Amino acid sequence: MLKSAGSGGNSGGFFEFLAVFLVATLCLLGVTPALAQIVSVEDYPDVMDARVSATAERARLIIDLSGPTEFAIATLDNPNRIAIDVKAFEVKILAPADVAGDGLVSSYSVEMAEKGRARTLLTLAKPALVQQAYMMEAVADQPARLVVDLIPTDEMTFNAKVAADLAASVANQGAVPETTSTDPGTHAAPVAETRPLVVLDPGHGGIDNGASAPNGVHEKDITLTFALQLQKVLMETGHFDVALTREDDAYLTLNQRVDLARQNKADLFISLHADSFQEPEIRGASVYTRDENATDVLDKVLADGENRYDIVAGFALPQATPAVMDILVDLMRREMRKSSFLAAEAIVHQLEPSVALRRFPVRQADFFVLQAPDVPSVLVELGFLSNAADIANLQQSDWRDRVVNALARGIADYFDQTQKSAAVAP
Ligand code: ZN
Repeated sequence: MLKSAGSGGNSGGFFEFLAVFLVATLCLLGVTPALAQIVSVEDYPDVMDARVSATAERARLIIDLSGPTEFAIATLDNPNRIAIDVKAFEVKILAPADVAGDGLVSSYSVEMAEKGRARTLLTLAKPALVQQAYMMEAVADQPARLVVDLIPTDEMTFNAKVAADLAASVANQGAVPETTSTDPGTHAAPVAETRPLVVLDPGHGGIDNGASAPNGVHEKDITLTFALQLQKVLMETGHFDVALTREDDAYLTLNQRVDLARQNKADLFISLHADSFQEPEIRGASVYTRDENATDVLDKVLADGENRYDIVAGFALPQATPAVMDILVDLMRREMRKSSFLAAEAIVHQLEPSVALRRFPVRQADFFVLQAPDVPSVLVELGFLSNAADIANLQQSDWRDRVVNALARGIADYFDQTQKSAAVAP
């Protein structure tokens, strides 16, 4: 056993070597180099399931585990592959499902590479890079998970990554390079010369409580708590400037919120809510973009209710858009609509492995607070104060941490995409 490391005896030298080697390996994997923390292979979690979904623009691998573990990733060529190693005791997958969809990843396998190490090998249809990878603890009915997202890259960048990983691997005596992270701060977002401005809008405030749970918790307080925490996480990445429409229990009209985003030339406006629904069984997070002609009846009720808060608080509804709209504004609005939808998709994509979502979580409704023609705008319903499970989640700090981190990753993804498409635009 490793306990004997450093003790005397004929075999001490070998055990010392073994201990040093293991500690070096574990250091590499981000574990504190205390011998007491070294666990035996039998204590490693099992790989319970794995699945891959792919489109031409991205791919996602999810590995279900019986507990969180360390992981490492390497890029390989001939053929182009990405290897994801996790410390694991056993692979308990009977028959891995086929890749869902058609795109970046053509096939994959999951098997034990050696004792204590399970390897998932993604065979790439096109050169791709790991955009982000993170381990998630088990929550509710969801097991611990490793999530790995891939995005396309060019041949040259891919080959450079293969060479870099190989060099790192040789330097580390065969261990693959480490990329463990659960922190959106290490996200691969390019550091722009000017940081995008994200304006967060905690819904309601002041005399307008928003929705209220039976236990007396108000929506306005929940949205403010989330917004302040999301601001902190986004600022810590160093990639964004973040402003809030309100930082305390202040009342603002919907127009004032929109104007704040427009006057400050926000690059993204996110309104946070946790409304009530007349159907208490409806629960889960969802992300809305604006569509004046949306037809979903329930969503219309939600938007109408939200828009009515200005009347409740003594302010008139905003004027309807003039029938004859300036063609430029119209074009701008269309562009913003596209960007808003991309932002909503990116956020939902990151929320999906973390929290319960509504069916069809990217939704459209006529929310007045999303009316800016020149700022991409989305409204995030974190959950519903009319549903008991959501009420419990909304007040839990670990649930809040997960949602905030997922929102931060989604926002970073959105800017990754838009900055890339801006870079290739003529
Ligand atoms: Zn609300």
